[in-house]
Amino acid sequence: RGLLRASDVTKSFGPTVALHGGELCVSAGEIVAVMGPSGSGKSTLLHCLAGVLLPDQGLVEYDGQRLDAMSDAERSRLRRTDFGFVYQFGQLVPELTAVENTALPLLLERRRRREAVAVAQAWLETFGLAGLEKRRPGELSGGEAQRVAVARALVTDPRVIFADEPTGSLDSAAGVAVLDEFTGAVRSRGVAVVLVTHDARVAAYAERTVLVRDGMVTSPDTARTVRAS
Ligand code: ADP
Ligand code: ADP
Repeated sequence: RGLLRASDVTKSFGPTVALHGGELCVSAGEIVAVMGPSGSGKSTLLHCLAGVLLPDQGLVEYDGQRLDAMSDAERSRLRRTDFGFVYQFGQLVPELTAVENTALPLLLERRRRREAVAVAQAWLETFGLAGLEKRRPGELSGGEAQRVAVARALVTDPRVIFADEPTGSLDSAAGVAVLDEFTGAVRSRGVAVVLVTHDARVAAYAERTVLVRDGMVTSPDTARTVRAS
């Protein structure tokens, strides 16, 4: 029994069928890579799993609870308390400092500012960013900004992190360093990760990879069997 499970999930945008028959099960602490060509439905699958989008058909369950049975407010709260998000671009608030950006999920949960800043500070130190707390995103390198984004995703102690091309905007050396630190941090804390990527070197960090093609989710073994037959 997985922590997060999507069964037979279908999602269309107008005439575009983005996902038909999406199946994915993620166990606690497991890193699962989701690969596939651009436009194949990876982000739609991720957004359905995270309760950002509700599927047209099918079921998404987190920790035994159906996401479609929750109110919007319950789903938003679940996203704030149990999930973390890392995206490729534009996720840091440009006007806020590194430590304020990292503390933001805690401040949204109405934690005391001093306490939120202390926790954020500790996460920035974990990712080697001590001394850069007061910088704004525009004053950080690409790798440093991605580390801030990763620290922010971890700051609430989530059980699942949804990462969509988390290192897609970096050159490979910086990307590898951030991925090493990110996967090290989630493994030591037992956080599950749904890792969307088109890069096999990124997927190699995962325990398991699923492929999305034309809105269908398959395991690489299944895909091989289908092609061979
Ligand atoms: P991927 O992440 O694999 O690149 P997406 O899940 O973003 O794929 O998109 C799958 C398909 O659904 C694409 O054809 C895309 O254009 C379409 N799509 C995704 N989101 C929307 C949306 N909000 N409105 C309309 N079409 C969308
Ligand atoms: P990604 O690289 O993560 O797949 P996209 O560019 O596909 O990012 O999507 C970025 C955002 O735009 C998502 O929220 C997605 O739902 C939305 N989107 C994607 N394709 C379309 C589309 N054809 N029309 C409207 N919105 C879209």
